[in-house]
Amino acid sequence: MMRSSGSGTFFMARHMLFATALAEVARSIRFKTCKRKDCQMPFAIESGHKRDYHTPYCGHLVSLRKERATEKRKKRAEKRKRTQRILAVKRHTL
Ligand SMILES: [Zn+2]
Repeated sequence: MMRSSGSGTFFMARHMLFATALAEVARSIRFKTCKRKDCQMPFAIESGHKRDYHTPYCGHLVSLRKERATEKRKKRAEKRKRTQRILAVKRHTL
C-alpha cells in the first residue's frame, strides 16, 4: 500500500507559505538611494529612521563638501588643499 498524495501537497503548501512570507517582507522593506551624487547606493529604510544617505559617512561627506563650497568662495587655495588631504586619508580608511 502506498500513500501518494499526502506528503506532496503538504510540501507544496509549505512552499507557498514561504513564498508569501517572502513577498510580505519584500513589500514592507523600502529602498532609497543615497543622496550623495557620486554614491547613489540603494539601501533599505528601517522604520522610524529617516535617512538620506546610506551611511553617516556619506552625509558627513556631503556636508563637508557644502562647507567647502562656501569656504571656497571666501578663501581659495590654502584651505582647499588641506581639506582635500583629509578626504584622501578618510577614503583610505574606509
Ligand atoms: Zn552613500
